[in-house]
Amino acid sequence: MRIKKLLAVGTLGFAATSLVQSNLSAADFTPTQIDAMKQQIIEAVDTRAKQAQVMNDMIFSFGELGFQEFETSAYITNLLLENGFEVAQGMAGIPTAWMATWGSGEPVIALGSDIDGIPKASQKPGVGYRDPIIEGAPGHGEGHNSGQVVNIIAALTLRDFMLENDIKGTIKIWPGVAEEQLGTKAYYVREGYFEGVDAVLFSHVANNLGTAWGGGRGNGLVSVQYDFEGESAHSAGAPWRGRSAADAIELMNIGMNYRREHLRLSQRIHSVVVDGGDQPNVVPSKASIWYFLREADYPAIKSLWEIGDAMAEGASLMTNTTWSSTVLGTAWPGHFNRPIAESAYANAQRVGLPDWSDADLTLAKAVQAEIGVPEEGLATELSELRGQANPEDNTGGGSDDIGDISWNVPTIVLRYPSNIPNLPGHNWVNSIAMATPIAHKGIVAGAKVQALTLFDLMINPELIESAWDYFNNVQNANENYVPLLRPEDQPAIQLNEEIMAKFRPQMREYYYDPERYDTYLDQLGITYPTVR
Ligand SMILES: [Zn+2]
Repeated sequence: MRIKKLLAVGTLGFAATSLVQSNLSAADFTPTQIDAMKQQIIEAVDTRAKQAQVMNDMIFSFGELGFQEFETSAYITNLLLENGFEVAQGMAGIPTAWMATWGSGEPVIALGSDIDGIPKASQKPGVGYRDPIIEGAPGHGEGHNSGQVVNIIAALTLRDFMLENDIKGTIKIWPGVAEEQLGTKAYYVREGYFEGVDAVLFSHVANNLGTAWGGGRGNGLVSVQYDFEGESAHSAGAPWRGRSAADAIELMNIGMNYRREHLRLSQRIHSVVVDGGDQPNVVPSKASIWYFLREADYPAIKSLWEIGDAMAEGASLMTNTTWSSTVLGTAWPGHFNRPIAESAYANAQRVGLPDWSDADLTLAKAVQAEIGVPEEGLATELSELRGQANPEDNTGGGSDDIGDISWNVPTIVLRYPSNIPNLPGHNWVNSIAMATPIAHKGIVAGAKVQALTLFDLMINPELIESAWDYFNNVQNANENYVPLLRPEDQPAIQLNEEIMAKFRPQMREYYYDPERYDTYLDQLGITYPTVR
C-alpha cells in the first residue's frame, strides 16, 4: 500500500503539471460552456449509432468463449489501429488480450469491458423462445458482445473532441478476456499494466443505466481444478488392484457438501467434473474436478481455499490416490470509486434511458412470459446510485475480476441498458436481446455516459485528485490488496480450446457480413420481434 500511495501522489503531481501545459481545463470554462460541450459530445455519439450496431452485431456473431476470443480480438484491434490507437497485443502473455493507447500525457484513463461468451448459449437474436443458431454452440449469453462497443464509441467521440479543442490526455482500451473464468485481470495487475493509470472506467451490460460505489456486495473467488491420480485395473476382473480417482472426486464433493452447512451465508461453492473417467470397466486412474470457491472478503476466500485443499486431501486418503491442484482464475471482491461514480451517475441522469419501441417491449414481455417472470418490459426509470453496502448484510453472489483492478486504480463499472430485466444470467435467454435494437439503443446510451465521464476526467484534475483521495483514505483505510494469485500461477489460456475447435467451423458460416446486410437480424432473416 505504501507504494500505491506514493504512486498516487506521483500521478497527481503529473496530472496537475500536464493540465498547466494543456490548453484547456475545466477552470477555463463557465458551467454553461461545459454544459454546451457535453451536449456536443452527446450529439456526436448519436452520429456513431450505425457504427455501434455493426460492431455489436459482429462481436455477437463471433460468440467466442474465454481465452479463445481470437476473431473478436483481431476485429477490435484492427478497428483501433485504423483509428489511430497504438496496440500492444498479447497483454500479460494472453494471446487474445491487448492494451490500446491513444493520445499523450496525463491524465491516463483506461476503458475496459469483457469480451467472452457462455457455453451452449447460441440463440437467434430477436426470437422470444429457445431457437439456437447452432445447437450446442457457445453464444453471448452474458451480453459481453456490447461493452467494448460502448467504450470504443465513447473513446472515438472523445478523441475527436480532444483534437478539435486541443485537450491533452491519454485514452487506453483493454479487454476482459475470459471474464467467465475470472481468468485475466489479476494477471494484468501483476504485470503492471495499470501502473500510471489515473482511473479505470469499466462497462458491463445490464438492464438499466447507472453505476455504484463502495463495496460489500457480491463475492471474490479462487477457481481451482483438483486432479486426482490412482491406478487402473479391470473393474470386474481385478477391482482390488485398482485405486479410483473418480471415487476421490465423489468423496471430495460429499465432504464439501457436508462442510457447506457450517460455512457463512456469503459463501458460494460450485463445481463441474472435468474428467470423471473413461468407461465403467476401467478403474479411472485419473479424474478432475473444477471448483469455484467464492467468499466475500480476502481472508474468507483464503480459508475456503484451505477447506477445498483439506477436502481433496481427505478424499485422497480415503481412496489411496494422490492429488494436485491448479489455479484457473481469481477475483477480488470489487470496491468502486465514489467521486467517479457520482460524476458518472450525474451523466446518466443527463442522458436518461432510451426510448423503447413497441417492438422492443413486445420482445421483452414475450421473453419474460416465456421464462415465467414478471412481464415488466424494459427499464423506464433510472436505477438509483448505490453506495457502500454493509458487509454484515452480504449474503454473497457473483464475482468479476474487475475487483482486482478496483484495488489498484480508482475504478467504476458503468451499467447500461442493453438487456431485458429479470433474466437468469449465463443462459441462452440472455442472448436474445443482444443483437437487437434493445442492445443497440442501450449501447448508445452507455456510450454517451462513458464519453461524458471521460470528458469530466480529462478536464477536471480535481476529480482525479478526489478519486485518489477516496481510494487512499477511504477504500484502503482498513483493507489492502494482497493478490490471490501465487507467483507460480499462470493464465489458463488452454481453456475452451477444444470446444471452440469443435464449433468454430460451423459458427464461421454465421459471421455477420455488414457489407451485405444492414443488421445481423436481416442476415439471419429474422422478423423483429419473433414471438409465440
Ligand atoms: Zn459479465
